[in-house]
Amino acid sequence: MAKILDGKAAASKVRSEVASEVAALGERGVTARLDVILVGEDPASVTYVAAKERDSREVGIESRVHRFPADVPQEDLAGLVASSNEDKAVSGFFIQLPLPEGLDAVPLVSSINPAKDVDGLSPESAGRLAVGLPSLRPCTPHGIIQLLRRNGVEVAGQEAVVIGRSNLVGKPLAQLLLKENATVTVCHSRTRDLPEVTRRADILVVAAGRREMIGAEHVKEGAVVVDVGIHRREEGGLVGDVRFDEVEPRAAWISPVPGGVGPMTRAMLLHNTVMAARLGAIG
Ligand code: NAD
Repeated sequence: MAKILDGKAAASKVRSEVASEVAALGERGVTARLDVILVGEDPASVTYVAAKERDSREVGIESRVHRFPADVPQEDLAGLVASSNEDKAVSGFFIQLPLPEGLDAVPLVSSINPAKDVDGLSPESAGRLAVGLPSLRPCTPHGIIQLLRRNGVEVAGQEAVVIGRSNLVGKPLAQLLLKENATVTVCHSRTRDLPEVTRRADILVVAAGRREMIGAEHVKEGAVVVDVGIHRREEGGLVGDVRFDEVEPRAAWISPVPGGVGPMTRAMLLHNTVMAARLGAIG
């Protein structure tokens, strides 16, 4: 039977560490503030932003949401990014993605000051991560590393296989695993024999966005399996990219969905905000 990589428990520890740091900054007269740019009324985006506001409040981070209609001119958003970069009261900010059709996220995200880039998704943040310079790290991959570390999972020297090469998860996670001295393989939709590659993994991270695609045939006995996927079931509840019941008996560790990577992602946004607040207080 596998041990559970409990994201809820680890995230709760991260949140209490963040709350202490926010309080300590407060004593020095520094307010940690997270701003969000929300465009349009996509129900998933609205829900995510509400959750991030709630999370912030709980740890003492001030939060502001800048709401725009879906037909806002691109220049207005560019103006807000520029003023948020300059505004000393804003510790960090992010643009809730995806943006409605007709708006181009790339130049907007690219112009975010890396010291305030709490999503860690700008090309400059990605480049800094790749060359080993200090940077704010994308929340999901950073959360996965923390989930492993806080459960005492050894990463150095291990064969790590990541399924997925997105800028949001797969690519930055591969960079972070390399930094932790794993031997890293990245699989994607054109990988020829997926089970053959994934069965080599001591640590298998699945971020393909394909509901329950990974079964026992993909997993080596005793592997650590991290499931990043999130899919809503028609009958209610969530499932991941991994067939949990089938894989769990083979694995040494496995992260559940829900209650695995999701809570860590949310917690790392708070962690990044307090890091940004600290950077702002220095700079
Ligand atoms: P994406 O669609 O941008 O990328 C998916 C990647 O998987 C691509 O690189 C693709 O090449 C690869 N892929 C797709 N099908 C494959 C297959 N059959 N075999 C091998 N590789 C395949 O997705 P993303 O943004 O990286 O997100 C991945 C999943 O993680 C989604 O389900 C998403 O909802 C979830 N997610 C969860 C969190 C969280 O906090 N838990 C955060 C971000 C994303």
